Amino acid sequence: MSHPKYEKTLIIIKPDGVQRNLIGEIVSRFERAGLKLVAMKMMTANVEMIKKHYTLDPEWMRLVGEKSIKGLLDKGIEPISRDPMVIAQSVIDRLSVYLTSGPVIPMVLQGGHAVSVVRKIVGTTEPVMSDVGTIRGDYVLDSYPMAMADERCVRNLIHASGTVDEADNEINLWFKNEEIMDYVLVNERVIYGVI
Ligand code: ADP
Repeated sequence: MSHPKYEKTLIIIKPDGVQRNLIGEIVSRFERAGLKLVAMKMMTANVEMIKKHYTLDPEWMRLVGEKSIKGLLDKGIEPISRDPMVIAQSVIDRLSVYLTSGPVIPMVLQGGHAVSVVRKIVGTTEPVMSDVGTIRGDYVLDSYPMAMADERCVRNLIHASGTVDEADNEINLWFKNEEIMDYVLVNERVIYGVI
């Protein structure tokens, strides 16, 4: 097993994060947790890329559908369908519009337990339910009911990989090998206690 400090994860600052001038704030939250930025770029994604990204995991459609249905039912709101695949199809169509509407910033972060640490810092999918202190909890007020009422995607500033395998696949989709830097930060000597 490779040391957990080499774990990598993919983050994408979505168009709402770029438009709201939150790029620096978002990056600094990850930096101050001790994670190392090893790749970053600004680009405009196309629909094919977004569809590929969200279908890398064959389970994603079912999971996103189930999570959305539960999020609405918990608030006493009836979803447009109780079939997770129907909900998921509408989510992916809306994601294709939203994530191609302006520049996005994909980046790769590396560090101890990078995938789970980043998910913890980012907060849950539905910002209104995200804890205070998380990025989504502190900077976004969106919810499933608001997204449903306006027939759009939940605005939640960031994408972050859910598992280590997902992260590997997503990093390969968004970055070429040579775009990922291999370097040591001086503060790693302190963070990983090798002094
Ligand atoms: P996460 O980004 O937290 O990993 P998912 O992978 O489940 O969440 O969903 C991907 C993205 O799709 C979410 O970040 C959000 O922008 C959008 N989304 C998810 N569910 C819905 C929904 N029911 N309605 C609108 N947009 C949604």
